[in-house]
Amino acid sequence: MQERLMTLQGEAVEKIEKAASLKELQDIRVEYLGKKGPITEVLKGMGKLPAEERPKMGQLANEVRDAITQKVETKQEKLEREALDAKLSSETIDVTLPGRPVRKGNAHPLTAVIEEIEDLFIGMGFSVAEGPEVETDYYNFEALNLPKNHPARDMQDSFFITEDILLRTQTSPVQARTMEKHEGRGPVKIISPGKVYRRDTDDATHSHQFMQIEGLYVDKDVRMSDLKGTLTLFAQKLFGAEREIRLRPSFFPFTEPSVEVDVSCFKCNGKGCSICKRTGWIEILGAGMVHPNVLEMAGFDSKEYTGFAFGMGPERIAMLKYGIDDIRHFYANDVRFLEQFKRA
Ligand SMILES: [Zn+2]
Repeated sequence: MQERLMTLQGEAVEKIEKAASLKELQDIRVEYLGKKGPITEVLKGMGKLPAEERPKMGQLANEVRDAITQKVETKQEKLEREALDAKLSSETIDVTLPGRPVRKGNAHPLTAVIEEIEDLFIGMGFSVAEGPEVETDYYNFEALNLPKNHPARDMQDSFFITEDILLRTQTSPVQARTMEKHEGRGPVKIISPGKVYRRDTDDATHSHQFMQIEGLYVDKDVRMSDLKGTLTLFAQKLFGAEREIRLRPSFFPFTEPSVEVDVSCFKCNGKGCSICKRTGWIEILGAGMVHPNVLEMAGFDSKEYTGFAFGMGPERIAMLKYGIDDIRHFYANDVRFLEQFKRA
């Protein structure tokens, strides 16, 4: 029986050493140490031995079982370590590979144009003022010299919430509100960018919602020549140093005199092309000297103070600058359109 045990141990150790996988090792453990294994068989046969030999054989059988168990555990650790090493080496990260590019967004073309215009005017000492888009009839019309039933209101039909509250049709109410805050003391020097609303039918050049940037400068001795100088600089910064501007008489209720401002065509330099409709000039904004009524209503003494104001549509500026043919592109949010305006 002793011999039988030693043979079993020898066989088992040899098989364990040859085992190439954890599965194989597990099978060997079951084969030798399981309930139906030869060691158990040997232990069961102990009863047939003479009483004095039993303890010795029992001890030997236990030693053999422990030796095999020990061997299996050692081998198991070794196989597990090898498996881990193989896994680690197959999953090595090559840190020298180039990274995946991160997708970067870009500013909306209107945001880009508005920021460019803001920077320009901030450089000339203007500050940026904002106001509510839901506005009262008083600030949107009356304070701007457009009393109820004034015919010019027809050009600015809005979305009324009540009879006296509406979506603003222009950013001019911000001018009225800012002047009020100054309580009759200049200088007031602001630009006010923002969304405005008109009851227009959408087409290639009209949208029921669009943007405006207005400027206002009120102080003692502000003259028409200041307006012309400011707007010339604006046109040259935005459309090129060669540009000139032209003022044409016009009408706005809140300015007197009022002008339409044209810039010399940046495409053909004034020779005439499709962009300037063969005239050499492109209309870019409206402007004028602030009407005395508007100054008085905002608490300024119109004999002491004068001012100029101007208003433009960033959509129109962006359409001209980037050659965009339809205002609706700005609001459709098609990424293929918007991605063309990445700034360097
Ligand atoms: Zn032209």
